[in-house]
Amino acid sequence: MAKSPDQEHPQKAFGWAARDKSGLFSPFHFSRRENGDEDVTIKILFCGVCHSDVCIAKNEWGFTNYPVVPGHEIVGTVTTVGSNVKKFKVGERVGVGVIVGSCKKCESCQQDLENYCPQTIFTYNSHYTDGAKTYGGYSDMIVVDERYVLHFPDNLPSEGGAPLLCAGITVYSPMKYYGMTEPGKHLGVAGLGGLGHVAVKMGKAFGLKVTVISSSPKKEAEAIERLGADSFLVTSDPTKMKAALGTMDYIIDTVSAVHALFPLLSLLKPNGKLVTVGLPDKPLELPIFPLVLGRKLVGGSNIGGMKETQEMLDFCAKHGITADVEVIRMDYLNTAIERLAKSDVRYRFVIDVASSLSQ
Ligand SMILES: [Zn+2]
Ligand SMILES: [Zn+2]
Repeated sequence: MAKSPDQEHPQKAFGWAARDKSGLFSPFHFSRRENGDEDVTIKILFCGVCHSDVCIAKNEWGFTNYPVVPGHEIVGTVTTVGSNVKKFKVGERVGVGVIVGSCKKCESCQQDLENYCPQTIFTYNSHYTDGAKTYGGYSDMIVVDERYVLHFPDNLPSEGGAPLLCAGITVYSPMKYYGMTEPGKHLGVAGLGGLGHVAVKMGKAFGLKVTVISSSPKKEAEAIERLGADSFLVTSDPTKMKAALGTMDYIIDTVSAVHALFPLLSLLKPNGKLVTVGLPDKPLELPIFPLVLGRKLVGGSNIGGMKETQEMLDFCAKHGITADVEVIRMDYLNTAIERLAKSDVRYRFVIDVASSLSQ
């Protein structure tokens, strides 16, 4: 018979779990594996609340294995290192993102693209190589193979830096891969939420002209004054949309609701690139005419490999890029999730795990 979550492994762990599709969180006792030779044990300090956490907690994608402890924007301190661990020392501040394992052998893994390995192990709601369920960062500690642990740069604050581990790499990786970093070029950022606001900051750091494309006119001042965007385009304003036709070199589309691609493709210059990173739960219609007539490209991208995630953290540290966050206590989590569903957050909730998780 299967052991209960708190008896499965030798190390006691405690966090907050969702038990059913209500997505309501409550305290949860479970366990973590013994620290292996390649492993690092981490005391969790902060964990960001990602949109995916909510989708999984409420089983919106249909594959949630309850109880689930989400959280894949983890910053913590190393408390134990295995005998073969070379990269990390006890006491060091580290990060853990969306993945905690992969096959290490396939073509993707060999190219430092663990995120595209067919056997990727996700930080939560997945199964580890020993068959045990993975639990994420809404908890006091975690044990992770050092390959999937990141150095957290000294000058990057834990709170504002945590969301970079998912939101940050989700927009950084496609910008690099699709060549959307040429200084002076014009980047459109569709959607100004957790992903979009980081994309604006990265675009400016790469030297791009950045326009925020949003359905909400209320975000204009915010986009320009606080985030440093060069201009703002409301999709519901036909005059402004018309004036902006064919002016953008690239668009990063972070919108996770079902939406029309045609207006976005029309904003691109010939040879323009539209990269989607939001995950609408239904297929989007792909208009072919603007693609063919303007030799345009539509692409996708999923987080990043470990090497590139480290590069992204170092880039953000160098350019002073952090996410704008609202730090919360663990017992505020259910309220935070309700607010997140209404997009009532600027722009990421981050749980102060270490000082608010009490048994
Ligand atoms: Zn995420
Ligand atoms: Zn692999």
